[in-house]
Amino acid sequence: MNSKAVVLIVDDVVTNVQALALLLKEDYTIKVATSGVRALELAAQDPIPDLILLDVQMPEMNGYDVFKLLKEKSVTAEIPIIFVTGQDSVEDEEYGLELGAVDYIAKPIRPSIVKARVKTHIMLKQQHDQLVGMATHDQLTGLYNRHYLNDALSKKVAHAKRHSEPLSVIIVDIDHFKSVNDTYGHLTGDLILKAVGSAMQSGARKEDIAARFGGEEFIVLLDNCTAHDAQVKAEHLRSQIEALHPEEIAVTASFGVAQLQQDTQRYEDLLKNADTALYIAKEEGRNRVVVYEEEAL
Ligand code: GH3
Ligand code: MG
Ligand code: MG
Repeated sequence: MNSKAVVLIVDDVVTNVQALALLLKEDYTIKVATSGVRALELAAQDPIPDLILLDVQMPEMNGYDVFKLLKEKSVTAEIPIIFVTGQDSVEDEEYGLELGAVDYIAKPIRPSIVKARVKTHIMLKQQHDQLVGMATHDQLTGLYNRHYLNDALSKKVAHAKRHSEPLSVIIVDIDHFKSVNDTYGHLTGDLILKAVGSAMQSGARKEDIAARFGGEEFIVLLDNCTAHDAQVKAEHLRSQIEALHPEEIAVTASFGVAQLQQDTQRYEDLLKNADTALYIAKEEGRNRVVVYEEEAL
């Protein structure tokens, strides 16, 4: 672990917050809130907590209400929550756990129990994050994988349609990569894929999604971007890759660009159109960008 996990402590009674903070501050980075409203703010701010200890009885907004609001927002929905409360009746415990809390701690707190439960749930959260990372990323390049891309793409297509916003994709395919492998070996081929992947990542805006689609094919998904802007971006990427010379080997790639259109409203069609453009780029001699145009076909 390179940095401490973050725990948000929520309790309207300051001395309760202090007692928990004192107990946990050695092992974790602590954030504290003495109201539900403040808890909601802090939970959504960097550093996003890895765990929340949430008091149930608070004036204005109680812990159950805070819990429900946290689960409604995607930034905070995945944060595990332990209820801490004086109401130690079985019904309360049952209600808290039914809502989806990971655990329940009764006041007065017992330091060793709090410490042990927090430790367990932080560990589970970290393992969960690690698995999610593995399931959504490509191991070699560290970019998003195809599985993640398909998910993101269908969401972004729906969003673009709803808001009438442009959405474009770029498909990138390394030129003659088979012969690179044949000439320099598969391991060198891997290093080249890594280098091209890094170039793809560093050229992307925060909201863009760069993914490894398979073998030596990559996809960049561009939010709020017309085919023209995507073409400019692709041209930039193309020259970057051409200038890269990874492992001192000349490498180029071909690019297909497509924008979501009224009649290609499914993400599969968008990808297919970009792939058609890529095919033309290969046919026309590689190391170039081609934009999909309906009438050209
Ligand atoms: P083109 O310009 O038409 O795209 O030619 P190409 O040789 O790049 O295309 P082709 O699809 O024939 O070959 C792709 C090659 O990519 C073949 C495969 O061995 C290689 N490849 C796919 N995945 C990996 C990988 O993970 N590591 C390495 N080193 N090579 C890979
Ligand atoms: Mg290919
Ligand atoms: Mg290729």
